[in-house]
Amino acid sequence: MMGLASDGGLLIPESIPDVRDRLEAWSKLSYQDITFEILKLFVDLPDDELRSLIDRSYAPFEHSEIAPAVPVGDIRILELFYGPTLAFKDIALQFLGNFFEYILEQRNQRLNILAATSGDTGSAAIHGVRGRDRINIFVMHPKGRVAPLQEKQMTAVLDDNVFNLAVEGTFDDCQRIMKTLFRDLKFKDRYALGAVNSVNWARVLAQIVYYFSAGLYVLTTSGAERVRFSVPTGNFGDILAGYYAYRMGLPIGKLILATNENDILSRFFKTGEYSLGDVVPTLSPSMDIQVASNFERYLYYQVGEDSIRLSQLIDQFEKDGAMRLPLGPDGCVDEIFEAGIGDTDSTLKTIRRYYDEYGYLMDPHTAVGVAVGETFMKEDEPLIALATAHPAKFSQAILDATGQDLAHHKYLELLRDAPTRCETVPADLEAVRAYIESHVPATTTG
Ligand SMILES: *Cc1c(COP(=O)(O)O)cnc(C)c1O
Repeated sequence: MMGLASDGGLLIPESIPDVRDRLEAWSKLSYQDITFEILKLFVDLPDDELRSLIDRSYAPFEHSEIAPAVPVGDIRILELFYGPTLAFKDIALQFLGNFFEYILEQRNQRLNILAATSGDTGSAAIHGVRGRDRINIFVMHPKGRVAPLQEKQMTAVLDDNVFNLAVEGTFDDCQRIMKTLFRDLKFKDRYALGAVNSVNWARVLAQIVYYFSAGLYVLTTSGAERVRFSVPTGNFGDILAGYYAYRMGLPIGKLILATNENDILSRFFKTGEYSLGDVVPTLSPSMDIQVASNFERYLYYQVGEDSIRLSQLIDQFEKDGAMRLPLGPDGCVDEIFEAGIGDTDSTLKTIRRYYDEYGYLMDPHTAVGVAVGETFMKEDEPLIALATAHPAKFSQAILDATGQDLAHHKYLELLRDAPTRCETVPADLEAVRAYIESHVPATTTG
């Protein structure tokens, strides 16, 4: 629940379990049962509690398989958007809400989650904890700078424990306010502040599951020995889960990292250089990121689990905005990864082509992953492309790509006339602090 480690670093498991001897048995299990087997390796909870947490977390999903891998043309599309906010972040955040509530009950504690969002994370986090007794959530978004639909997905949640704050500033202002409040240890303690951002280990953990469920399903049905995954990437959380699945023994041939024009990570895997660029807005806004907050976890393994060396690299990056890793003998950073860029043009063309040829509609994030994945096809290794959002969340891009208004979803239609609740605050630390103080009781007198 602590998010960052107390020295400012990220938390990782002490060791990575090897599950190769269980893969055949797991290939016959349901999504929930695979989740149980994987979480049990990392989480110390009584079996019946863990099962009940998992069942409750995935009950709201619209598809009985939770995350089906559907064949489309020559590839499989792993549909991760059947949760309440129609994006893959629900898979982890629905679980996190139940998991946190369980721990808080055990400890008789309360938690006030503070988050800054430019869209998807905020709504998935709100839907993960709405209506829970021991948790309040305060989500800051930059006023008027979030896509109207994504704003509605947050502000139309009227539960008493959900507080939406429209900050009169930018996303960076929201993040700065959040970080400063977290650094005020007295305040953090007094109000039991917690985070659910993408470096939260429990989120990565819950995402490992669908690599196994889809990978085992495709291996069994195709008879192949390995599969490839292509992953539309922003903060490196999703593909990091794939990397853990690979390290645990899932037969993965390649992890294909796909970025949009914000390409710091694809440049890194091609050249070994990790250097900051400017963030440019694209059709896939949830990947408009330069510094990928989960990347440090991967780097740790890549430098031979040497924390000192890792700290040096991170310090250097913070100082110079750049750092470099040596390339291996085969001219790449890590042979399990391939990387590429899906730009605006190829995003639109990919959406259009899949609609024209197969009648399949994909959202622009998914299209980036499919476009890059297609450039790394191998005959005997089926490609599984992760679909991270439902196309209806990005209906304008669908319209631009196909010329038709094709993408709809009943959840989103219901939002159109839904009442909303949101408080406007200035981009000022003290205003946000005062808002929290006046809306929830202090948990300690500290
Ligand atoms: C968050 C998000 C991504 C990027 O995932 P990371 O874990 O940040 O790499 C891709 N697509 C969609 C729709 C998202 O919401």
